[in-house]
Amino acid sequence: MSSGLELADVTLTYPDGDSRLTALDRVSLVVPPGTVTAVVGPSGSGKSSLLAVAATLTRPDAGLVSIAGRDASTLGAAERARLRRTTIGIVFQQPNLLASLTCVEQLQVMAHLAGRNPRKARARALDLLDRVGLADRAEHRPHRLSGGQRQRVNIARALMNEPRVLLVDEPTSALDHERGAAIVALLAELTRTAGAATVLVTHDRRHLTHAERSLELIDGRVRTLDEGH
Ligand code: ADP
Ligand code: MG
Repeated sequence: MSSGLELADVTLTYPDGDSRLTALDRVSLVVPPGTVTAVVGPSGSGKSSLLAVAATLTRPDAGLVSIAGRDASTLGAAERARLRRTTIGIVFQQPNLLASLTCVEQLQVMAHLAGRNPRKARARALDLLDRVGLADRAEHRPHRLSGGQRQRVNIARALMNEPRVLLVDEPTSALDHERGAAIVALLAELTRTAGAATVLVTHDRRHLTHAERSLELIDGRVRTLDEGH
């Protein structure tokens, strides 16, 4: 098993009237630590389902999901929740920041949930905000931030507990191209410095230049686009 993220022959179906809809059809991929795998594909092709399975939020009908060398299918619900808090970083399209918390507090909450040392957590949170270019916004609440700045907080928050696997779903769809490109470049850089295995779902093929590998989903099936830029 890979020390990053590995999916092997993963099939996922949803109930659909009297039959079932196949959202993922024997999907296999390996994401080594410190690399970005980009996923593109039309709406409804299974991209978010792929991330939900990789995040251990959704259990596939069949196939292997390995997170940092652990087979997720052998874990119970409580162990999967723990794995998510300690090992997996998740970035969705909407930052979903808490309106009442400052930027640094948004990050500290994650360390608290994972039972980490609070004093070290504050130092790490400030360091991460610095790395995403928001050192001077640490004590600001979300209403004082732009859309791009909120997404940067969201990314820093996902990295708070040093995840081995980082799962990112269309992080730039609310941003213009220039701001979106800056976010994707930042994600790629943080992936390398943090040694995370990153899956980046994007609707914008111009972002593929930041990924080591790219694949396209069509009706739940993987098509490899290219290997290595
Ligand atoms: P994408 O992110 O590429 O737009 P999704 O993974 O969200 O695609 O969806 C893949 C297919 O599975 C779509 O046909 C969608 O309608 C269906 N689907 C997604 N989530 C569910 C669900 N919870 N229950 C039933 N069908 C779903
Ligand atoms: Mg989606």
